[in-house]
Amino acid sequence: MVELQGIGGAPGCAIGVAVVKNAGKTAPERRIIDDPAEEIERFHAARDTHMRRLESLYTETLDRLGEKEAGIFKAHQIILQDEYFFGQALERVTKERVAVDYAIEEEKRIAAAAFAEIDDEYLRERFSDIETVCHELICILNDHNNNFASIPQNAGGVILVAEELTPADTVRMDKDLLRGLLTEKGGSTSHTVILARALGIPAIVGVRDLSSQIKNGHTVILDGGTGQACVNPTRERLRNFKQTKLEEDRRRAGYEKAKREKAVTLDGRVVRVNVNTGDADSLRNFDKDVCDGVGLFRTEFLYMDHADYPTEEEQSAVYRDMAEKAGGKEVIIRTLDIGGDKQLGYMCLPEEDNPFLGYRAIRICLDRPAVFNAQLRAILRASVYGDVKIMFPMIVSLDEVRAAKAATKRAMDELRAEGIPFNKDIKQGIMIETPASVFISDQLARNVDFFSIGSNDLIQYVTASDRMNDKIQHIYDSCNVSVLRAIRIVADNAAKAGIPVGICGEVASEARLIPLWAALGIAELSVAPAFVGRVKYVLRRTSAAKTRQDLESLFDCESADEARALLDKILAGIID
Ligand code: PEP
Ligand code: MG
Repeated sequence: MVELQGIGGAPGCAIGVAVVKNAGKTAPERRIIDDPAEEIERFHAARDTHMRRLESLYTETLDRLGEKEAGIFKAHQIILQDEYFFGQALERVTKERVAVDYAIEEEKRIAAAAFAEIDDEYLRERFSDIETVCHELICILNDHNNNFASIPQNAGGVILVAEELTPADTVRMDKDLLRGLLTEKGGSTSHTVILARALGIPAIVGVRDLSSQIKNGHTVILDGGTGQACVNPTRERLRNFKQTKLEEDRRRAGYEKAKREKAVTLDGRVVRVNVNTGDADSLRNFDKDVCDGVGLFRTEFLYMDHADYPTEEEQSAVYRDMAEKAGGKEVIIRTLDIGGDKQLGYMCLPEEDNPFLGYRAIRICLDRPAVFNAQLRAILRASVYGDVKIMFPMIVSLDEVRAAKAATKRAMDELRAEGIPFNKDIKQGIMIETPASVFISDQLARNVDFFSIGSNDLIQYVTASDRMNDKIQHIYDSCNVSVLRAIRIVADNAAKAGIPVGICGEVASEARLIPLWAALGIAELSVAPAFVGRVKYVLRRTSAAKTRQDLESLFDCESADEARALLDKILAGIID
């Protein structure tokens, strides 16, 4: 038995027989050829074949999953048509008289070195698409089918194992047999992981030395939630796993059912469960029947999708569409939160040594009144089509709140003068995501209509650990008692001032923390759409008053692990 630990990519437990991709694969060898023209012709034929395959994968995925997932294969077609990249390879064929598969491999190696220099993790991961396209092309040139071992006869289920899986591998695999994915490479935003989540296939990525530990035909169990896998488990390990899987299947069925129910705790406390949205995909798939509204509309996606500032009209149309889709349920629109890890070329933002501590979010909006004004006018214009609210990010002082509200007032005055309707009683709230805003939350609460805790940033600022830096993710910890105390301070101050407080960072859907949110009187949790069912499921089994008692010692825990253990114990008592 070998225990493996990776990064949980897509949740769920799976068991199956390992089918290893590229078992025994070697890179193409440097082969000298006689006739470059013939080799170039071979390349074009292979490219045409791959183009057709990608087209049919696109159509198949579009039917089954939708535009976003299918888009991966369009992206691969674009890479396949890259005349510069493949032109370099063909030039190598002519000049060095080498086989085209070797030439492509060489160009891929050069590109890999260039991509490795890129700081942006997302862009770095996109290299895997180039790698995939090259690999598939080389497979076609060599007339072998992606090097998958054949599936053992009578296999009840298959776990695909690979250094790296391509989206095509995932889509092509017989779904009746495919139980899980296990890869050595790949991050949590890789396309394979996105697809696995969409297909509901448990996946683990980033398992070190995977290929040396699994062979074709081995029995593998995996838990995509915890990132744990086991090869050839003992009987005892298998028994435990089957028990965990049974419980998980039961819970998942419960989450599905809970999705359409109201989130009311056992002692009658209603918590609104909203969704975070903003990107095109989540806007398109918004379903008002499974949530209480939108708790965080990240408007920066709208700006990122444009080559220049979106106009007031363009913005207003998008906000109006969301307000109408929500059918009277609240829609909290956050004003532009650019800077930090989100950059916009056309804004010409300065290079900064500490972008997360620099020119970002409300700081930029207050510094660029025309940009802010266009957005506020657009939000106000949409406010007559639903329950639209405004939310300001990254607040550190009362001055900023007053300046932001003054900007709203100016926009209102203009619209009034122009005879354009808007909701003059529109609610204006702020995000609590800086330590400064925590410490003055009593003052802030008296000056705004609501708070929403942005824990993603709050954790990074409270624990002084960059949320993007994987070296210090053990410090960036939602259970650090300083973080929990900060949230309690905010909840208490909001309650004293009589304003509602919500949470829109990722901790809103962290299962072990959900009972705590109910106990602290958090009125709204805004989460990724995939987690609505889970959040409601836990809330409906929680008694806020009892949890408050059970968690009395939480804020005195002396370590994050101690706090986590206590929270886990309480969660186990609630959902088991
Ligand atoms: C947050 O900081 O918790 C938040 C929701 O905002 P973002 O993740 O967009 O910074
Ligand atoms: Mg934030």
